[in-house]
Amino acid sequence: MTDEEARVLNDEILSCTRCRLSFGRSHAVPGEGPVPSRIVLVGEAPGEKEDRSGRPFAGRAGSVLNRLLASIGLSRDDVFITSILKCRPPENRDPKNDEIASCKPYLDRQIALLRPSIIVPMGRFSAAVIMGQFGVPGGRISEIHGKAFRAEAPHGPIILFPVYHPAVVTHNPPLRGDLETDFRRLKEILEGISPV
Ligand code: SF4
Repeated sequence: MTDEEARVLNDEILSCTRCRLSFGRSHAVPGEGPVPSRIVLVGEAPGEKEDRSGRPFAGRAGSVLNRLLASIGLSRDDVFITSILKCRPPENRDPKNDEIASCKPYLDRQIALLRPSIIVPMGRFSAAVIMGQFGVPGGRISEIHGKAFRAEAPHGPIILFPVYHPAVVTHNPPLRGDLETDFRRLKEILEGISPV
């Protein structure tokens, strides 16, 4: 992805009116990070803070994510962070199928341009969409989190590594340990220590 290609795609997303979510948003949130990027983290959709700031994972879940990344020696500058939908659904409701159909091509283009070797879907919703896209049999997030799945992207082989959404720490604090364990495994995979 060249800077120019990234800028063109970002501008398209920022001015997009393909679905109803464009009416209620303050900012579309294309995502941010290095280009190209070895790791792409994919959440569900922007929340209130993301909508206000235009930045991905700007709220409490973002703080959790920052700590998880730091725990394995990474920062946000090392990963590309985006989401399935680029605009906030009202009251953070679940995305609708037609909204996904309208927005998903942006994520596909981002993946094609970023050429990651690992995609980390965060949360059950993102995991279901990403696993389905690559034809990998999924399952409940409680069963597939922290497991690595080989898949084939247009740019070459990739690994899908679903984890719980960082916001889960707020709703279900005991799952923090699972997230931390999964990120340690992610580090081992990145370092070639852990087999896929
Ligand atoms: S959610 Fe996606 S498709 Fe809908 S308006 Fe926003 S950028 Fe466009």
